[in-house]
Amino acid sequence: MKRSLFSNTRRILFIGLLFAPLSAFCWGVTGHRVVAEIAERHLSKKAKKGLKGLIGRENLAMWANWPDFIKSDTTGTWAMASKWHYVNIPGNLSKEVFVDSLRNLKGENLYTQIKAMTDQLKDESLTAEKRQIALRFLLHFVGDLHQPLHVGRAEDLGGNRINVSWFDKATNLHSVWDNSLVEFQQYSYTEYATVLDIVSEEQIAEWQNSALEDWFYDSYVLANKVYASVPADGKLGYKYNYIFQKDLDQQLLKGGVRLAKMLNEAFE
Ligand SMILES: [Zn+2]
Repeated sequence: MKRSLFSNTRRILFIGLLFAPLSAFCWGVTGHRVVAEIAERHLSKKAKKGLKGLIGRENLAMWANWPDFIKSDTTGTWAMASKWHYVNIPGNLSKEVFVDSLRNLKGENLYTQIKAMTDQLKDESLTAEKRQIALRFLLHFVGDLHQPLHVGRAEDLGGNRINVSWFDKATNLHSVWDNSLVEFQQYSYTEYATVLDIVSEEQIAEWQNSALEDWFYDSYVLANKVYASVPADGKLGYKYNYIFQKDLDQQLLKGGVRLAKMLNEAFE
């Protein structure tokens, strides 16, 4: 009797765990595709050719969400990859201390894996399959890097433990940034990429010509603002969209043009 009660509890816990990653997904499907689509529109001739050799006529947007889908793989093949989607760093640090903390984080994380996947994509001694996988991760991770709460705090799991409501729906802060805000704009991913991608060459150069650490710090600064802007009643809706829509758009756009830079460099 006791035993079956225990196993039932375990079963419930297990089912709970199965559903837990849903709230920890990254920019939803649309957000990741917007970043990939914008990148696709800023590729050099060489990068286009190199990518064609690697993935044929497939669109980058097609692969941008694969690293989230493999979180549901039950064979254990990708178990190590679940912690590659984020970094956790305490809030409100100076840039110098932040970059130092980022470089000294223990274990594999979003920062180490963006660098690792870039190296693997460039490495022509690797099999095509290995380089395709590196490409899929890179597409996705440059998107994650621009979702501010993927450069969030450990104590609340990047906002996953901060309960809020989005209009009438109970959710959490991380999920609002992954999905609710993006979906609220009511664009398809190609429409969204089109309306955002009207940026000047000077602006593109400015966003691209900075280091990976600067990109992380950009997101971190926005994350600090996001953390400081949760109203006491946790009710998010029209006003929240009004405050953050520009930041959201800018992050998606920056993600796209910076991903293009990384791909252009990888195929130079
Ligand atoms: Zn992710």
